[in-house]
Amino acid sequence: MTLKKTTRTSFTRHLGKNFKDDYTTLQVYSRDMADLPKQVKLFIGNVPDGVIQVRTKEDMQKIYQIANETKVPITQRSGGTAGFGGSVPYKKGVVVDTKGLEHHFLVDPLELTVTTNPSVVFSDLQRQLNLEGFSLCAYPSSFHSATVGGWIAHGGHGIGSIQYGGALEQIAALEVVLPTGEIKRYTEEDDISLFVGSHGTLGTITEVALRLKFDIPLKHQGCTFDSPAELLNGLKHLAEIKPFSIWFLNPDHVALFNELFGYNLPRSYLAIISKEVSFEEEEQQFNTLFNNAIRSSGGQILDRRYIKDIWDFRFKGFTLIGESPDYLVTEVILPIETSERYFRKLISKFRGKIHLEGEMISPTHYALLVYLLFDEKISDIKKMILFLKLYKVTTKRSKSKRTPYSTGLWFSGYYSSIYGKDQYKKYLEFKKKVDPKNISNPGKVISPKFRFLPIIKLKPIVKLASKLML
Ligand SMILES: Cc1cc2nc3c(=O)[nH]c(=O)nc-3n(C[C@H](O)[C@H](O)[C@H](O)COP(=O)(O)OP(=O)(O)OC[C@H]3O[C@@H](n4cnc5c(N)ncnc54)[C@H](O)[C@@H]3O)c2cc1C
Repeated sequence: MTLKKTTRTSFTRHLGKNFKDDYTTLQVYSRDMADLPKQVKLFIGNVPDGVIQVRTKEDMQKIYQIANETKVPITQRSGGTAGFGGSVPYKKGVVVDTKGLEHHFLVDPLELTVTTNPSVVFSDLQRQLNLEGFSLCAYPSSFHSATVGGWIAHGGHGIGSIQYGGALEQIAALEVVLPTGEIKRYTEEDDISLFVGSHGTLGTITEVALRLKFDIPLKHQGCTFDSPAELLNGLKHLAEIKPFSIWFLNPDHVALFNELFGYNLPRSYLAIISKEVSFEEEEQQFNTLFNNAIRSSGGQILDRRYIKDIWDFRFKGFTLIGESPDYLVTEVILPIETSERYFRKLISKFRGKIHLEGEMISPTHYALLVYLLFDEKISDIKKMILFLKLYKVTTKRSKSKRTPYSTGLWFSGYYSSIYGKDQYKKYLEFKKKVDPKNISNPGKVISPKFRFLPIIKLKPIVKLASKLML
């Protein structure tokens, strides 16, 4: 344990048994979805000194007060489902688990919003909303484990984003405990966008008002394409239908779907398109537009029998990685227009073990979730090499104009390529104001100093390693 005795006593005096520092707890909180190669762990302080299960915003104020007095870093964690290291400590300190924040749920049917604790898991929130005839507008495919607060702080997109936007567009208001200890409520009139993708570096979200929609039924259609070029052309045509979601899989992922459901679908690119439909005429119109889009793009229409199971498959990512002896995950955002070459290269680089799930997040861009799934445990060296390869394919500047999905720890230093230089400037100004001692999730968003050579930042080291080794 590296916390000073007096610091530990300060935490336990105020937080009692919600402070834990037994070996097992510390190990559980030392990683997120993506376990790290041993060599990487040598360079970061990923095992915390303590874990606090926070219950109230007043607890959070107290934690920031102690953290500021003692300069102990805090790292927020909710579902722990992101694979970018955002909820993994970089400089040890204390992990604040926000999953136990007081539960509340209040729907405003006139404003079409729901006010809730940020630690609510998407599937639980959706279930409560559906009972009242409402629905979330967009949600991640990690729906059954991810929390609303984690999704916002991670800067997420998801199913429904092509119609309703990403995390930012879902927020009507946010309550945040700033690292100064002040509790602030931000509404549309304020710059809420700074908190989206901020990974807890600007404060801890303690309440969220999300926008809602009426629970309009969805109709689905499915299609297949023979090549990445046909798929991308198809996505462009399908996006013109203004759907609720377009979700697609690569041939190896289709093979896994076949294995799971006992089907024999062709190993091709497969897309499911979903649209909100209230009336029969709307459904007919959707079918006509869909048929025309497939005709224009050279795809084949999928037998309707399979569609429900494929649509349900969108939540199976966790089962798949849970059942794999070893895996690596990354995510990248790509424009349809310029990504064909990248798509082909990605597949040839990781031939046989690459599983891709894509979701259109706007009419022009898609998010590509990349899994490498292995049939057996792989060595740490192999994992390290593949980790660097994935880093390179996620970050390298190229004609495809791709960007990492989020920053977290692994892609810290890429904030301005995701959100733009002006936003980064605003972010830095705000950070300086609210967290001058850099105690709120240090090492995230802004590339941290390399632990053993503090004149160098982590980003160039990882970048160089990915160039040299590959
Ligand atoms: C199979 C799979 C599918 C996925 N699908 C999607 C998808 O469709 N769309 C998508 O966007 N992502 C997806 N993800 C990534 C991830 O699951 C989501 O972004 C998720 O919403 C993160 O929420 P979480 O509660 O797990 O957050 P965590 O992983 O716990 O935290 C994420 C970040 O937020 C910070 N944080 C957490 N809580 C707070 C808080 N209360 N205040 C301030 N900061 C906080 C953490 O420090 C961390 O930096 C997927 C991941 C997997 C493994």
